[in-house]
Amino acid sequence: MCSSQGLVPERNAPRPAAPDELPGTRGRSAMPQVEQAFFDASEAMLITDAGQRILAVNPALELLVGLDAASLLGRSPDCFVAPRQGASQCLADWQLLLQQEQGRLEMLLHDAQGRDRPTLFSFRRVRHPSGTTSHHVVTLTALDRSLAGPGPRASREAYFDALTGLPNLKLLTQLLQDAMVHAQGAGETLAVCSLDIDHFKRINDQLGELAGDRLLASFARRVSHLLAGDEVLARVGGDEFVLLLHREPDEAFLERLLTAIRQPIRLDGQTLRLSASIGVTLYPDDEQEGDVLLRHATQAMYRAKQRGRNTYHRFDPGHDRQLQVRQAQRDRFARAIDNDELRLYYQPQVDMLGGEVVGLEALVRWQHPERGLLAPGEFLPVVEGTPLAAALGEWVIHRALRQLSDWQEAGITLPISVNISPVHLLQPDFVARLEALLATHPQVPPGSIKLEVLESAALHDMQAALEAIHRCKSLGIAVAIDDFGTGFSSLTYLRQLPVDLIKIDQSFVRDMLVDANDMAIVESVIYMAKRFGRPMLAEGVETLAHARALVALGCHQAQGYGIARPMPPEQLPAWLVTWPERSEWQGLG
Ligand code: C2E
Ligand code: CA
Ligand code: CA
Repeated sequence: MCSSQGLVPERNAPRPAAPDELPGTRGRSAMPQVEQAFFDASEAMLITDAGQRILAVNPALELLVGLDAASLLGRSPDCFVAPRQGASQCLADWQLLLQQEQGRLEMLLHDAQGRDRPTLFSFRRVRHPSGTTSHHVVTLTALDRSLAGPGPRASREAYFDALTGLPNLKLLTQLLQDAMVHAQGAGETLAVCSLDIDHFKRINDQLGELAGDRLLASFARRVSHLLAGDEVLARVGGDEFVLLLHREPDEAFLERLLTAIRQPIRLDGQTLRLSASIGVTLYPDDEQEGDVLLRHATQAMYRAKQRGRNTYHRFDPGHDRQLQVRQAQRDRFARAIDNDELRLYYQPQVDMLGGEVVGLEALVRWQHPERGLLAPGEFLPVVEGTPLAAALGEWVIHRALRQLSDWQEAGITLPISVNISPVHLLQPDFVARLEALLATHPQVPPGSIKLEVLESAALHDMQAALEAIHRCKSLGIAVAIDDFGTGFSSLTYLRQLPVDLIKIDQSFVRDMLVDANDMAIVESVIYMAKRFGRPMLAEGVETLAHARALVALGCHQAQGYGIARPMPPEQLPAWLVTWPERSEWQGLG
C-alpha cells in the first residue's frame, strides 16, 4: 500500500519530527529492529501518549492521510475523522473506545485531499509496569477497496457483497459521499443511476435461487465491463444495483447498458435474457443529500418500470420540487379543515318572475391566518382530484346542515345548494355517508339540501353518475348540473342524467349582451332545457339588463352580483329584509 517511492522517507535519513525513541523501546535500543518494523509496516500506524497526543507515525500512515509526520505530531488522532454528518456520534464512540484497553471502530477518515474513506481504527493501550498508561498504538486500515487491498475478512464482509464482490449499500453510501464532495470541488457532474432487473422475482422463483444468484453475478460482470476505472457499481439489494458515474450519461451510454444487459445468457443449457429498468439523477442539478439522491434515482427507476421496463428515466428535480410544493399545500389545506379555518358564504338564488328568493348557494372560503380570506380559485386547484376533495365536500355538507338547522330556528327556511366535486360524488360510499350526515340533523328535511355537480369530464363514468344521482333523489335530495355548456358532452348529460336543475354557466351569461356567440349559446341551452323539460338557472347575472334578456328568453331563475354577492351567514337576514324593497328587480315577468 505504501510502495510509491519518494513519498516514503529514506530509511536512514534523519526524521526530524519523529521522537528520538519510540515509547516501549526505552532501554531496548539494542533492538533497533523493533523501531524499524514500525517504519516498515505496511499497515498505517501511529503512537500517542497517555494524553492522546501523537508521538510517532509511520510512512504508511503519512501516505494514507496525505500529511507528513511533522504536521501530525502533537495533534490528536481524531483530527482525521471526517468533519461531517454523524461525525459527533463517531467522535463520541471514539472517545468511548479510548477509555478501554483495546478495541476497533469503523470511522470515516478525512484525508488531506478532502476525501472521506471508510477506515477501521484499531486501538490498544500499553501500560507501565506500575499500571499507569504509557502510550497507545493505533492502526488504521482503509476499507475502501480501490485505495487499499482487502482489509480483514470481517471488514470485507461489512463493505462488499459476497455474491458479486461489488461494494454494498454501506460502502456505496460512503463512496457517494466522497464523490459528491469531489464533484462539488471540481465543478463536475455526478450521476447516480439505479438499476433494477425486470421481473427478477419471477425468474428467481422459476429457476431457483442458485440460478438466480448466477444470473445476478453475470449481470454485475456485464455492467462492470462498461465502466471506466473510477466508476462504481454497487449491489444495494436483491436485484437492485447502483451505478456512480463522474459525468452525465448520454443516451448512447444508457442504450449500450440496456443492450449489454439484454444479451442472451447461457445457464445450464438454457438461454436466458434479462432486461433492466434504469433511473438516473444528476448531482448537483439535483441538489440533495446522498440518501435523497439514491431515493430520487430509485423513483426514476420506478417511472422507467411504469413506462414498460427495459428503459431508462431521468429524474426531474424541477418537477419534483413542484410536487413537493403541491404536497405541502395539500397538507396545509388538510390542516385548514381540521383547524376550522374554512367558512361558507351564501349567495341568494331568486325567481325573476315573482321576485321570490328560492335558495342559497353555499360557496367555500378559507379564512387563512396569514393570507386573509381566500376565494376557492386560490386553493381548490390543489385539492381537486385528491381525497381532500371528498373531505372538503363532507365538511361543506356538514356545515350547511348546521346552518339550515340554525336558520330554521330563526324562521328562515331556504334550501342550500352545495358544490360537490365529481370525484366525491362518484365515491362508492358517497350516498351512504350523505345519509349518515343527514341523520345527524333529523330536524332538517333532506329536500333542503341540494347538490351542484360540475359538468365535467370527470363525470365520464355515466353509469356510476346515474346511480349516485338516482340514489340522492331517492333520499329526496335534488341535483343540479353546474356550469352547463362548458363541457363536451352537455347533450349526453342532459339526455341521460335525471337532474332537477340546469345552471347556465356565468361565462356565457356575462357577455351575452355584447357577444353574439355567447348569446347563441345561452339561447340554445335555454331551448334545450325547455325541450327536455328541465328547470334552469342563470349564473353571473350582474345587471338588470341581463335579467330582462334572460326572462325574455324563458330563463326565470337567476343568481349573480346584480342580485347579491356571496355573503357570510350573519348578513343574510338583513339582505332578506332589503331584497323586496329593490322594486326594479321585482316582477320582471
Ligand atoms: P360556481 O359553482 O360556478 O360558483 C359561482 C361562482 O361565481 C362563485 O365564485 C361566485 O362568487 C361567482 N359569482 C356569482 N355571481 C357572480 C357574478 O355576477 N359575476 C361574477 N363574475 N361572478 C359571480 P367563487 O365563490 O369564487 O367560487 C368559484 C368556484 O369554486 C365555484 O364556481 C365552484 O365551482 C367552486 N366552489 C365554491 N365553493 C365550493 C365548495 O364548497 N366545494 C366545491 N367543490 N367547489 C366549490
Ligand atoms: Ca355552483
Ligand atoms: Ca358556475
